[in-house]
Amino acid sequence: MDDADVAVVGLGAIGASALWRLAERGVSVVGIEQFSPGHDRGSSHGNSRLFRVACLEHPNLVTLARTSRDLWRELESLSGQPLLTTTGSITIGSPSSPEVRDALLAAGQHNLDVERLTDAEVATRYPHHADIASSHVGVVDPEAGILRPEAAIVAAVDAARHAGAHVITETRITGVAVTDGGVTIETPTGKINARQAVVTAGAWLGSLAPGLPLRSRRVMQSWFDPKSSADRSIDLSDFPVFIRALDDGTSYWGHGQTHGEGAKIGVDWDPDCRWTEPDELDRDVSPIDYKLVSSLVRDWLPDLDPNPTKVTPCMVTYTPDHQFFIGRLDNDSPIIVGGGGSGHAFKHAAGIGELIAQITQREKPLFDTSFVSPTRTLPDSL
Ligand SMILES: Cc1cc2nc3c(=O)[nH]c(=O)nc-3n(C[C@H](O)[C@H](O)[C@H](O)COP(=O)(O)OP(=O)(O)OC[C@H]3O[C@@H](n4cnc5c(N)ncnc54)[C@H](O)[C@@H]3O)c2cc1C
Repeated sequence: MDDADVAVVGLGAIGASALWRLAERGVSVVGIEQFSPGHDRGSSHGNSRLFRVACLEHPNLVTLARTSRDLWRELESLSGQPLLTTTGSITIGSPSSPEVRDALLAAGQHNLDVERLTDAEVATRYPHHADIASSHVGVVDPEAGILRPEAAIVAAVDAARHAGAHVITETRITGVAVTDGGVTIETPTGKINARQAVVTAGAWLGSLAPGLPLRSRRVMQSWFDPKSSADRSIDLSDFPVFIRALDDGTSYWGHGQTHGEGAKIGVDWDPDCRWTEPDELDRDVSPIDYKLVSSLVRDWLPDLDPNPTKVTPCMVTYTPDHQFFIGRLDNDSPIIVGGGGSGHAFKHAAGIGELIAQITQREKPLFDTSFVSPTRTLPDSL
Protein backbone atom coordinates (compact mmCIF):
# COMPACT_ATOMS: atom_id res chain seq x y z
CA MET A 1 0.00 0.00 0.00
CA ASP A 2 1.20 3.54 -0.73
CA ASP A 3 2.18 5.80 2.15
CA ALA A 4 1.14 8.83 0.09
CA ASP A 5 0.11 9.79 -3.43
CA VAL A 6 3.13 12.06 -3.77
CA ALA A 7 6.43 12.16 -1.87
CA VAL A 8 8.41 15.42 -2.06
CA VAL A 9 12.14 14.93 -1.47
CA GLY A 10 13.89 18.10 -0.28
CA LEU A 11 11.97 20.91 1.42
CA GLY A 12 13.97 23.96 0.36
CA ALA A 13 12.59 26.80 -1.74
CA ILE A 14 10.99 24.70 -4.47
CA GLY A 15 10.11 21.57 -2.48
CA ALA A 16 8.40 23.46 0.35
CA SER A 17 6.29 25.30 -2.22
CA ALA A 18 5.44 22.10 -4.11
CA LEU A 19 4.42 20.44 -0.83
CA TRP A 20 2.16 23.39 -0.01
CA ARG A 21 0.53 23.54 -3.46
CA LEU A 22 -0.09 19.77 -3.44
CA ALA A 23 -1.51 19.77 0.09
CA GLU A 24 -3.75 22.73 -0.81
CA ARG A 25 -5.28 20.56 -3.54
CA GLY A 26 -6.10 17.86 -1.01
CA VAL A 27 -3.46 15.50 -2.43
CA SER A 28 -2.09 12.98 0.07
CA VAL A 29 1.52 14.16 0.26
CA VAL A 30 4.59 13.55 2.40
CA GLY A 31 7.64 15.83 2.42
CA ILE A 32 11.09 14.71 3.54
CA GLU A 33 13.98 17.06 4.38
CA GLN A 34 17.51 16.08 5.43
CA PHE A 35 17.88 19.11 7.74
CA SER A 36 15.23 21.48 9.20
CA PRO A 37 13.20 23.80 6.95
CA GLY A 38 14.90 27.20 6.65
CA HIS A 39 18.42 25.81 7.29
CA ASP A 40 21.64 27.40 6.03
CA ARG A 41 23.33 24.49 4.26
CA GLY A 42 21.79 24.58 0.78
CA SER A 43 20.94 27.39 -1.63
CA SER A 44 18.24 29.34 0.19
CA HIS A 45 19.79 31.16 3.14
CA GLY A 46 21.15 34.67 3.66
CA ASN A 47 18.05 36.68 4.65
CA SER A 48 17.17 37.99 1.19
CA ARG A 49 16.67 37.10 -2.46
CA LEU A 50 15.91 39.57 -5.22
CA PHE A 51 12.44 39.43 -6.72
CA ARG A 52 11.91 40.84 -10.23
CA VAL A 53 9.11 40.53 -12.75
CA ALA A 54 10.95 41.82 -15.85
CA CYS A 55 12.90 38.55 -15.90
CA LEU A 56 15.87 38.89 -18.16
CA GLU A 57 16.60 35.14 -18.04
CA HIS A 58 13.61 34.15 -20.26
CA PRO A 59 10.46 36.05 -21.29
CA ASN A 60 8.20 33.11 -20.25
CA LEU A 61 9.42 33.56 -16.69
CA VAL A 62 7.35 36.74 -16.37
CA THR A 63 4.22 34.60 -15.97
CA LEU A 64 6.01 32.49 -13.37
CA ALA A 65 7.18 35.56 -11.44
CA ARG A 66 3.67 37.02 -11.34
CA THR A 67 2.16 33.72 -10.22
CA SER A 68 4.85 33.48 -7.58
CA ARG A 69 4.21 37.02 -6.38
CA ASP A 70 0.52 36.21 -5.84
CA LEU A 71 1.43 33.02 -3.99
CA TRP A 72 4.06 34.78 -1.82
CA ARG A 73 1.34 37.26 -0.87
CA GLU A 74 -1.03 34.39 -0.05
CA LEU A 75 1.66 32.81 2.10
CA GLU A 76 2.18 36.14 3.86
CA SER A 77 -1.45 36.27 4.85
CA LEU A 78 -1.47 32.60 5.90
CA SER A 79 1.67 33.02 8.02
CA GLY A 80 0.90 36.54 9.25
CA GLN A 81 4.38 37.82 8.45
CA PRO A 82 5.98 39.88 5.69
CA LEU A 83 7.84 37.79 3.10
CA LEU A 84 8.10 40.08 0.05
CA THR A 85 9.05 43.76 0.34
CA THR A 86 8.42 45.71 -2.85
CA THR A 87 11.10 48.34 -3.46
CA GLY A 88 11.19 48.50 -7.25
CA SER A 89 14.52 47.78 -8.93
CA ILE A 90 16.90 49.51 -11.28
CA THR A 91 18.90 47.57 -13.87
CA ILE A 92 21.79 49.63 -15.19
CA GLY A 93 24.03 48.96 -18.16
CA SER A 94 24.66 49.52 -21.81
CA PRO A 95 21.48 49.12 -23.90
CA SER A 96 23.17 46.12 -25.56
CA SER A 97 24.09 44.36 -22.29
CA PRO A 98 22.11 41.14 -21.71
CA GLU A 99 20.81 42.56 -18.41
CA VAL A 100 19.22 45.67 -19.97
CA ARG A 101 18.38 44.19 -23.37
CA ASP A 102 16.66 41.08 -22.01
CA ALA A 103 14.78 42.90 -19.23
CA LEU A 104 13.34 45.22 -21.90
CA LEU A 105 12.57 42.23 -24.14
CA ALA A 106 10.62 40.48 -21.35
CA ALA A 107 8.83 43.73 -20.50
CA GLY A 108 7.89 44.34 -24.13
CA GLN A 109 6.52 40.83 -24.62
CA HIS A 110 4.35 41.08 -21.51
CA ASN A 111 3.41 44.78 -21.61
CA LEU A 112 5.10 45.36 -18.27
CA ASP A 113 5.00 48.81 -16.82
CA VAL A 114 8.79 49.28 -16.79
CA GLU A 115 10.43 52.65 -17.23
CA ARG A 116 13.57 53.33 -19.26
CA LEU A 117 15.78 56.06 -17.80
CA THR A 118 18.64 58.04 -19.32
CA ASP A 119 21.99 58.17 -17.53
CA ALA A 120 21.10 61.59 -16.08
CA GLU A 121 17.75 60.34 -14.79
CA VAL A 122 19.44 57.33 -13.15
CA ALA A 123 21.98 59.61 -11.45
CA THR A 124 19.23 61.85 -10.06
CA ARG A 125 16.78 59.18 -8.96
CA TYR A 126 19.33 56.58 -7.83
CA PRO A 127 22.19 58.61 -6.31
CA HIS A 128 24.07 55.47 -5.19
CA HIS A 129 24.66 54.89 -8.91
CA ALA A 130 25.42 58.53 -9.80
CA ASP A 131 28.66 57.57 -11.55
CA ILE A 132 26.72 55.84 -14.35
CA ALA A 133 28.49 55.98 -17.74
CA SER A 134 26.93 58.39 -20.24
CA SER A 135 26.40 55.48 -22.67
CA HIS A 136 24.40 53.49 -20.08
CA VAL A 137 20.69 53.49 -19.32
CA GLY A 138 18.44 52.28 -16.52
CA VAL A 139 15.36 50.05 -16.52
CA VAL A 140 12.99 50.41 -13.56
CA ASP A 141 10.90 47.37 -12.63
CA PRO A 142 8.35 48.76 -10.15
CA GLU A 143 7.18 45.27 -9.10
CA ALA A 144 10.63 44.17 -7.89
CA GLY A 145 11.74 43.80 -4.29
CA ILE A 146 13.26 41.35 -1.86
CA LEU A 147 12.04 38.08 -0.42
CA ARG A 148 12.90 36.59 2.99
CA PRO A 149 14.00 33.08 1.97
CA GLU A 150 14.25 31.25 5.29
CA ALA A 151 10.92 32.65 6.55
CA ALA A 152 9.22 31.87 3.22
CA ILE A 153 10.33 28.23 3.32
CA VAL A 154 9.18 27.76 6.91
CA ALA A 155 5.86 29.46 6.06
CA ALA A 156 5.31 27.14 3.06
CA VAL A 157 6.06 24.02 5.12
CA ASP A 158 3.74 25.24 7.89
CA ALA A 159 0.98 26.00 5.37
CA ALA A 160 1.43 22.55 3.84
CA ARG A 161 1.24 20.89 7.26
CA HIS A 162 -1.88 22.87 8.04
CA ALA A 163 -3.43 21.68 4.77
CA GLY A 164 -2.71 18.06 5.68
CA ALA A 165 0.82 17.29 4.46
CA HIS A 166 2.96 14.91 6.48
CA VAL A 167 6.44 16.36 7.07
CA ILE A 168 9.53 14.36 8.02
CA THR A 169 12.70 16.32 8.88
CA GLU A 170 16.31 15.40 9.68
CA THR A 171 16.00 12.41 7.35
CA ARG A 172 18.26 11.97 4.37
CA ILE A 173 16.82 10.15 1.38
CA THR A 174 19.36 7.74 -0.09
CA GLY A 175 17.54 6.79 -3.27
CA VAL A 176 14.39 7.17 -5.35
CA ALA A 177 13.51 4.03 -7.30
CA VAL A 178 10.76 3.45 -9.86
CA THR A 179 8.57 0.44 -9.03
CA ASP A 180 5.61 -1.24 -10.75
CA GLY A 181 3.07 0.93 -8.95
CA GLY A 182 5.04 4.15 -8.59
CA VAL A 183 8.15 4.93 -6.56
CA THR A 184 10.00 3.83 -3.48
CA ILE A 185 11.85 6.45 -1.46
CA GLU A 186 14.70 4.98 0.53
CA THR A 187 15.57 6.36 3.94
CA PRO A 188 18.34 5.10 6.26
CA THR A 189 15.68 3.34 8.34
CA GLY A 190 13.07 2.17 5.85
CA LYS A 191 11.12 2.87 2.69
CA ILE A 192 8.29 5.21 1.74
CA ASN A 193 6.04 4.13 -1.13
CA ALA A 194 4.18 6.65 -3.25
CA ARG A 195 2.57 6.88 -6.67
CA GLN A 196 4.87 9.73 -7.68
CA ALA A 197 8.00 11.44 -6.37
CA VAL A 198 8.83 15.11 -6.64
CA VAL A 199 12.58 15.49 -6.28
CA THR A 200 13.54 19.03 -5.31
CA ALA A 201 16.91 18.42 -3.71
CA GLY A 202 18.70 21.62 -4.79
CA ALA A 203 22.46 21.09 -5.00
CA TRP A 204 21.89 17.38 -4.27
CA LEU A 205 19.44 16.92 -7.16
CA GLY A 206 22.04 15.36 -9.45
CA SER A 207 22.76 12.58 -6.96
CA LEU A 208 19.08 11.60 -6.66
CA ALA A 209 18.29 12.01 -10.36
CA PRO A 210 21.47 10.76 -12.01
CA GLY A 211 21.78 11.69 -15.64
CA LEU A 212 20.67 15.28 -15.20
CA PRO A 213 23.62 17.48 -16.17
CA LEU A 214 23.98 19.69 -13.09
CA ARG A 215 26.94 21.29 -11.34
CA SER A 216 27.00 23.31 -8.14
CA ARG A 217 29.16 26.30 -7.46
CA ARG A 218 30.19 27.81 -4.13
CA VAL A 219 28.96 31.42 -4.29
CA MET A 220 29.45 34.09 -1.66
CA GLN A 221 26.97 36.52 -0.11
CA SER A 222 28.54 39.67 1.40
CA TRP A 223 27.29 42.54 3.54
CA PHE A 224 28.82 46.03 3.77
CA ASP A 225 28.39 48.84 6.32
CA PRO A 226 28.29 52.51 5.34
CA LYS A 227 31.49 54.53 5.64
CA SER A 228 31.42 57.02 8.49
CA SER A 229 31.77 59.68 5.77
CA ALA A 230 28.83 58.31 3.74
CA ASP A 231 26.74 61.03 2.11
CA ARG A 232 23.63 58.92 1.70
CA SER A 233 21.51 56.52 3.69
CA ILE A 234 22.01 52.87 2.74
CA ASP A 235 18.63 51.77 4.08
CA LEU A 236 16.60 49.62 1.71
CA SER A 237 14.12 52.43 1.04
CA ASP A 238 16.97 54.71 -0.10
CA PHE A 239 19.06 52.04 -1.81
CA PRO A 240 16.61 49.69 -3.51
CA VAL A 241 17.29 46.50 -5.44
CA PHE A 242 19.72 46.95 -8.32
CA ILE A 243 21.59 45.02 -10.99
CA ARG A 244 24.50 46.73 -12.66
CA ALA A 245 26.26 45.48 -15.80
CA LEU A 246 29.72 46.89 -16.47
CA ASP A 247 31.21 47.10 -19.94
CA ASP A 248 33.84 44.42 -19.14
CA GLY A 249 31.03 41.86 -18.68
CA THR A 250 31.05 41.95 -14.86
CA SER A 251 27.58 42.13 -13.37
CA TYR A 252 26.85 42.80 -9.72
CA TRP A 253 23.66 43.13 -7.74
CA GLY A 254 22.45 44.14 -4.34
CA HIS A 255 20.16 46.12 -2.12
CA GLY A 256 20.26 48.38 0.88
CA GLN A 257 20.28 47.47 4.51
CA THR A 258 17.64 45.30 6.17
CA HIS A 259 17.87 43.44 9.48
CA GLY A 260 20.61 45.94 10.52
CA GLU A 261 23.10 43.84 8.57
CA GLY A 262 24.45 46.39 6.09
CA ALA A 263 23.92 46.50 2.34
CA LYS A 264 24.05 43.11 0.63
CA ILE A 265 26.11 42.99 -2.56
CA GLY A 266 26.92 40.02 -4.81
CA VAL A 267 28.59 39.25 -8.11
CA ASP A 268 26.76 37.36 -10.83
CA TRP A 269 29.71 35.22 -11.93
CA ASP A 270 32.87 35.51 -9.84
CA PRO A 271 35.71 33.63 -11.58
CA ASP A 272 37.25 32.93 -8.15
CA CYS A 273 34.23 30.88 -7.07
CA ARG A 274 34.76 27.10 -7.21
CA TRP A 275 32.64 24.17 -8.30
CA THR A 276 31.74 22.02 -5.33
CA GLU A 277 30.04 18.83 -4.27
CA PRO A 278 27.22 19.83 -1.91
CA ASP A 279 28.47 17.64 0.94
CA GLU A 280 31.94 19.16 0.57
CA LEU A 281 30.95 22.84 0.65
CA ASP A 282 33.85 24.73 2.24
CA ARG A 283 32.25 26.98 4.84
CA ASP A 284 35.49 28.74 5.83
CA VAL A 285 35.85 32.15 4.21
CA SER A 286 39.17 33.59 3.03
CA PRO A 287 40.01 36.98 1.41
CA ILE A 288 39.94 35.56 -2.15
CA ASP A 289 36.24 34.85 -1.55
CA TYR A 290 35.39 38.56 -1.38
CA LYS A 291 38.23 40.10 -3.39
CA LEU A 292 36.13 40.88 -6.47
CA VAL A 293 33.03 42.09 -4.63
CA SER A 294 35.18 44.32 -2.39
CA SER A 295 36.87 45.89 -5.39
CA LEU A 296 33.48 46.53 -7.04
CA VAL A 297 32.22 48.18 -3.85
CA ARG A 298 35.38 50.28 -3.63
CA ASP A 299 35.12 51.39 -7.27
CA TRP A 300 31.37 51.84 -7.69
CA LEU A 301 29.61 52.23 -4.33
CA PRO A 302 31.52 55.03 -2.57
CA ASP A 303 29.19 55.20 0.44
CA LEU A 304 30.06 51.64 1.50
CA ASP A 305 33.15 50.48 3.38
CA PRO A 306 34.69 47.92 0.98
CA ASN A 307 35.62 45.58 3.85
CA PRO A 308 32.62 43.27 4.26
CA THR A 309 31.15 42.86 7.73
CA LYS A 310 29.91 39.36 6.94
CA VAL A 311 30.55 36.85 4.14
CA THR A 312 28.82 33.48 3.89
CA PRO A 313 29.00 30.72 1.29
CA CYS A 314 25.95 29.35 -0.47
CA MET A 315 25.49 27.12 -3.54
CA VAL A 316 24.16 27.81 -7.02
CA THR A 317 23.30 24.75 -9.11
CA TYR A 318 23.58 25.24 -12.86
CA THR A 319 22.11 23.50 -15.86
CA PRO A 320 24.12 23.75 -19.11
CA ASP A 321 21.81 26.51 -20.43
CA HIS A 322 21.42 28.22 -17.02
CA GLN A 323 17.69 27.49 -17.09
CA PHE A 324 15.72 25.32 -14.64
CA PHE A 325 14.74 21.67 -14.82
CA ILE A 326 11.01 21.35 -14.14
CA GLY A 327 9.04 18.31 -15.25
CA ARG A 328 8.92 14.54 -15.53
CA LEU A 329 12.20 12.75 -16.17
CA ASP A 330 10.45 11.37 -19.24
CA ASN A 331 6.84 11.48 -20.43
CA ASP A 332 5.65 8.50 -18.38
CA SER A 333 8.02 8.75 -15.44
CA PRO A 334 6.53 8.92 -11.93
CA ILE A 335 9.50 11.14 -10.98
CA ILE A 336 9.09 14.89 -11.38
CA VAL A 337 12.10 17.11 -10.75
CA GLY A 338 12.34 20.79 -9.84
CA GLY A 339 15.73 22.44 -9.56
CA GLY A 340 18.84 23.59 -11.38
CA GLY A 341 17.97 27.11 -10.26
CA SER A 342 21.09 28.56 -11.95
CA GLY A 343 21.05 31.49 -9.53
CA HIS A 344 17.58 32.85 -10.29
CA ALA A 345 14.98 30.41 -8.93
CA PHE A 346 14.07 31.72 -5.50
CA LYS A 347 11.75 34.42 -6.76
CA HIS A 348 9.94 31.78 -8.84
CA ALA A 349 9.89 29.03 -6.22
CA ALA A 350 6.24 29.49 -5.22
CA GLY A 351 5.18 29.40 -8.88
CA ILE A 352 7.43 26.42 -9.59
CA GLY A 353 5.73 24.65 -6.68
CA GLU A 354 2.37 25.36 -8.31
CA LEU A 355 3.68 24.17 -11.69
CA ILE A 356 4.97 20.95 -10.14
CA ALA A 357 1.59 20.38 -8.48
CA GLN A 358 -0.07 20.88 -11.89
CA ILE A 359 2.34 18.41 -13.51
CA THR A 360 1.81 15.71 -10.88
CA GLN A 361 -1.98 16.10 -11.18
CA ARG A 362 -1.80 16.25 -15.01
CA GLU A 363 -3.50 19.65 -15.00
CA LYS A 364 -2.88 22.20 -17.75
CA PRO A 365 0.39 23.93 -16.79
CA LEU A 366 0.69 27.67 -16.28
CA PHE A 367 2.63 28.02 -19.54
CA ASP A 368 4.52 26.01 -22.14
CA THR A 369 7.25 24.38 -20.05
CA SER A 370 9.31 22.95 -22.90
CA PHE A 371 12.16 25.44 -22.27
CA VAL A 372 12.59 24.03 -18.73
CA SER A 373 11.84 20.39 -19.52
CA PRO A 374 14.47 17.90 -18.27
CA THR A 375 14.24 16.23 -21.70
CA ARG A 376 15.04 19.35 -23.75
CA THR A 377 18.11 19.45 -25.96
CA LEU A 378 20.97 21.02 -24.05
CA PRO A 379 24.39 22.36 -24.89
CA ASP A 380 27.19 19.84 -24.33
CA SER A 381 28.87 21.33 -21.31
CA LEU A 382 28.17 23.49 -18.30
C1 LIG B 1 24.28 33.76 -3.18
C2 LIG B 1 23.01 33.46 -3.92
C3 LIG B 1 22.20 34.51 -4.32
C4 LIG B 1 21.02 34.24 -5.00
N1 LIG B 1 20.22 35.28 -5.36
C5 LIG B 1 19.02 35.04 -5.92
C6 LIG B 1 18.13 36.11 -6.14
O1 LIG B 1 18.44 37.26 -5.82
N2 LIG B 1 16.92 35.82 -6.68
C7 LIG B 1 16.56 34.56 -7.01
O2 LIG B 1 15.45 34.37 -7.51
N3 LIG B 1 17.39 33.51 -6.80
C8 LIG B 1 18.61 33.73 -6.26
N4 LIG B 1 19.46 32.70 -6.00
C9 LIG B 1 19.08 31.35 -6.41
C10 LIG B 1 18.09 30.73 -5.46
O3 LIG B 1 18.41 31.03 -4.12
C11 LIG B 1 18.09 29.23 -5.70
O4 LIG B 1 17.87 28.98 -7.09
C12 LIG B 1 16.98 28.54 -4.91
O5 LIG B 1 17.04 28.92 -3.57
C13 LIG B 1 17.15 27.02 -5.05
O6 LIG B 1 16.08 26.38 -4.41
P1 LIG B 1 16.04 24.79 -4.34
O7 LIG B 1 14.75 24.44 -3.75
O8 LIG B 1 16.42 24.22 -5.67
O9 LIG B 1 17.26 24.40 -3.37
P2 LIG B 1 17.28 24.42 -1.77
O10 LIG B 1 16.48 25.56 -1.26
O11 LIG B 1 18.70 24.30 -1.36
O12 LIG B 1 16.48 23.12 -1.37
C14 LIG B 1 16.93 21.81 -1.57
C15 LIG B 1 16.56 21.05 -0.32
O13 LIG B 1 16.68 19.66 -0.54
C16 LIG B 1 17.20 19.09 0.64
N5 LIG B 1 17.80 17.81 0.29
C17 LIG B 1 18.80 17.60 -0.59
N6 LIG B 1 19.10 16.30 -0.68
C18 LIG B 1 18.26 15.66 0.17
C19 LIG B 1 18.10 14.30 0.51
N7 LIG B 1 18.86 13.34 -0.03
N8 LIG B 1 17.15 13.97 1.42
C20 LIG B 1 16.36 14.94 1.98
N9 LIG B 1 16.49 16.25 1.69
C21 LIG B 1 17.42 16.61 0.78
C22 LIG B 1 18.22 20.12 1.10
O14 LIG B 1 18.61 19.95 2.44
C23 LIG B 1 17.47 21.40 0.84
O15 LIG B 1 16.70 21.79 1.96
C24 LIG B 1 20.65 32.92 -5.31
C25 LIG B 1 21.48 31.86 -4.91
C26 LIG B 1 22.63 32.13 -4.19
C27 LIG B 1 23.48 30.99 -3.73
